[in-house]
Amino acid sequence: MTVNTEIKTYMNYINGKWQSSSTNEVQASINPAQKNEIVGYTPKSTKEDLDDAVTSAKNAQAAWRKLSAPARGKYLYKVANVLESRIEEVAETMTREMGKTFQEAKGETARGVAILRYYAGEGMRKTGDVIPSTDNEAFMFTSRTPLGVVGVITPWNFPVAIPIWKMAPALIYGNTVVLKPATETAVTAAKVIECFHKAGLPTGVINMVTGSGGVIGQGIIDHPDINGITFTGSDNVGKQVGQGALARGAKYQLEMGGKNPVIVAKDADLDLAVDATISGGLRSTGQKCTATSRVIVDSTVYDEFKEKLVAKVKEIKVGDGLEEGIWMGPCSSENQLNTVLSYIEKGKNEGAELLVGGNRITAEGLDKGCFVEPTVFDGVTTDMTIAQEEIFGPVLALMKVDNMEQAIDLANDVEFGLSASIFTSNIQNMLDFVDDMEAGLVRINAESAGVELQAPFGGMKKSSSLSREQGQAAIEFFTNIKTVFVKG
Ligand code: NAP
Repeated sequence: MTVNTEIKTYMNYINGKWQSSSTNEVQASINPAQKNEIVGYTPKSTKEDLDDAVTSAKNAQAAWRKLSAPARGKYLYKVANVLESRIEEVAETMTREMGKTFQEAKGETARGVAILRYYAGEGMRKTGDVIPSTDNEAFMFTSRTPLGVVGVITPWNFPVAIPIWKMAPALIYGNTVVLKPATETAVTAAKVIECFHKAGLPTGVINMVTGSGGVIGQGIIDHPDINGITFTGSDNVGKQVGQGALARGAKYQLEMGGKNPVIVAKDADLDLAVDATISGGLRSTGQKCTATSRVIVDSTVYDEFKEKLVAKVKEIKVGDGLEEGIWMGPCSSENQLNTVLSYIEKGKNEGAELLVGGNRITAEGLDKGCFVEPTVFDGVTTDMTIAQEEIFGPVLALMKVDNMEQAIDLANDVEFGLSASIFTSNIQNMLDFVDDMEAGLVRINAESAGVELQAPFGGMKKSSSLSREQGQAAIEFFTNIKTVFVKG
């Protein structure tokens, strides 16, 4: 690639130093709101670069795991402070690199700061239990040890929060880390790693190698010195990560897609349900794993809900997320836009009725970006592709039901099970929903896309492997548990 020398080239971070790839090749990050703008370059790394990073993480392991958890926590507090001082700059890069609005990007970066502080504090918590033994002369307890070197593979849609919600628990529990961020958002990732560098973490504790999924991601899956892999991304790649890790006995954690439903009962607060459907489905241009995509509405309130929803969707202001007053930015890339447009075509071809949106936006000023109209389909049936596959774009599918039993059956009629919401004022509906909904995140009178950092996060079915991320649940993946029996 010919490099525009005025645009900054970022480096890999290996053994406490910034390094280009062994071939000096780079990949460009493109602004999806202005495709003629290059945000920066990052190394197109090789397996040899990855080997160096893994060696660095492996060499740093012994000292890092021996450091007390509260002492490791002090480093995380320092990283949090550095990131906090750079929120606006990091958020601006994020918006330019993947398109979410500046407000959302600032919120996400601030979330990254909070996650770092949360896990710094987790370093003070007990990590084992004393268990009574049936033997009067024995003492039994559990002890946790780190996995060793953890490979972290992350997507582009939360380029600050997701790497941090994996790296912070990995580090606090004594692991060292090799991060492979999504190629599309590798510049944002480099800025996050700059904060770890500035905070002065011991050499080799954290490493970053940018490059393609096929080379660096696959390299992490296969690397014999990587003891655990935590992955967030599509279910196709997740399957490869899981199978590869299992084959060589590495621990793995997978967070993948969703096809998240919202149920609107006849006794729902319709204005609340409309606002939450729009926010949950269309914020971040629908590019959240927890985004609402199916809207299942009781027939008695269907028309009123639909009318209110469509009226509000028509008001959404789409544009470059760095501009004031913009509510929805572009898709993250031309590829992502084309995927969304192809799902819209499928929706039309399979008989759904387009109520609003459906087109690429080509108005002057937006014609050089990857913009699509927020889109709502009516009359969607569960056999349609847009009711089954993750679109990862601003597309809502309306579905009509006659009662709550039907609603929950329909909500469960997908391979995914990440997040689900219900809007109702009826306590029995709420309880049935909690009991019967096949989803890891079950939300009542709240949008499907909310995540709290101190609570377990993850899904059922095709959405996740079994372990949970975030909160105290993270310890289950990032440590091995030992049952210790001591005979006096
Ligand atoms: P993706 O294509 O699966 O990529 C995710 C990561 O995997 C990227 O770093 C990618 O690298 C890497 N990768 C690609 N091919 C690989 C391979 N063969 N071996 C190992 N790694 C490989 O997903 P995405 O498009 O970035 O993200 C969107 C998906 O993430 C959606 O399905 C969304 O639902 C899911 N997601 C889930 C959650 C959750 O918590 N459940 C949260 C956010 C997003 P490159 O970038 O270089 O291709």
